Amino acid sequence: MVECECSGRENQAASGAANVEPVDASRLLAHSRLLDSVAAFTHHRDVDALDHSLVLSLAELTSVRSVSLGKYTTDSHGRLRTVVRCTVGAHGHYALRAFEPAPNDPSLRLLREGPGRLDAHEEQGAEGLHWLIVPILSEGRAVGALQLESEVPCGDSLPLVAGFARIYANYTALLNESERDKLTGLYNRRTFERHLQRLLQPDPAAITTEALDERRHAGPPARDEVWLAILDIDHFKRINDSYGHVYGDEVILLLAQQMRACFRQSDVLFRFGGEEFVILLAAHDETIVRSVLERFRLRMAEYVFPQVEHVTVSIGYARIGEHDYPATILERADKALYFAKEHGRNCVHGFEALTAQGLLAPGGAAAGSIDLF
Ligand code: GH3
Ligand code: MG
Ligand code: MG
Repeated sequence: MVECECSGRENQAASGAANVEPVDASRLLAHSRLLDSVAAFTHHRDVDALDHSLVLSLAELTSVRSVSLGKYTTDSHGRLRTVVRCTVGAHGHYALRAFEPAPNDPSLRLLREGPGRLDAHEEQGAEGLHWLIVPILSEGRAVGALQLESEVPCGDSLPLVAGFARIYANYTALLNESERDKLTGLYNRRTFERHLQRLLQPDPAAITTEALDERRHAGPPARDEVWLAILDIDHFKRINDSYGHVYGDEVILLLAQQMRACFRQSDVLFRFGGEEFVILLAAHDETIVRSVLERFRLRMAEYVFPQVEHVTVSIGYARIGEHDYPATILERADKALYFAKEHGRNCVHGFEALTAQGLLAPGGAAAGSIDLF
């Protein structure tokens, strides 16, 4: 006779119904709430919505005062880059806020220390507040951290928060892969289309919570205008023809690195296709947009690429109006780019300025070169 050990479900079935433990209804309810939360937060397909949903889920599942998600820069310094916070208000309402960290904000001290810490820990603050900080790890380093603030010790929440941090790390790694271009690491065209769509028609169903209702009732925050710029490398075919595609790819890669170094953290950079890039920038007025783009154009004109040496870029930009269609905005920026190509290349032109000067017709047939949506 062969004897074997079995466990789990098989064992329960073999030993008969008499030994089955009674179902603990409250535990089942807690588990199903937890699964609902995980399902809700992994439903999102873009990282911003995922971030909001993560802090909200944790605020709902714990009884803390606030949950903050801090994200670190990917460079070797690993500084705190952005924070998303969910605060539980007096009437149990949730308020969500995304912000860039102020240098002296004491509520961010632990998050700021985060990049160097790979372990979770609890701390009690001077005002009797309790803090729990849990790193979000990816490939052995902290890419962010979750911080819970509570009036009572909140160490019991550690397994839950650590579990969410792991799911978040795995899921964002997947999202990042699908959102980014393989060669440059910039966002890809698909992400751009989604981004622009969302900018023009914020999706109210992205996060359906009282928090957002509250935010909506408070009215939209005062904001800068947003501008879309298209950048195209001049005479890129010649680079490919003279030096080969490998050098061509190298130029694209180095240009993307220069974009990262030159534009602000808040500007969003995309590889639109081939040797075309799109930048979304927020600014008070056109003068700022022009000077930022002009600065980049000059930077590239002076940059020395290996072997290829000098490469220039042309840039066209247009303002994003609240009621514009994505294709219209892209078409306007493309017309300005086309104008730049027609007028000597290595220059920057804005659609609004060109139409105001009568150099471009506001409507009319598209003269540009890119494929629209
Ligand atoms: P223009 O100044 O008018 O922009 O001239 P151009 O030669 O740059 O013309 P255009 O922008 O139309 O051509 C882009 C060329 O870039 C076409 C294609 O062969 C090449 N290209 C597109 N994608 C890649 C890529 O990923 N790697 C490399 N090496 N070349 C690419
Ligand atoms: Mg092109
Ligand atoms: Mg080109």
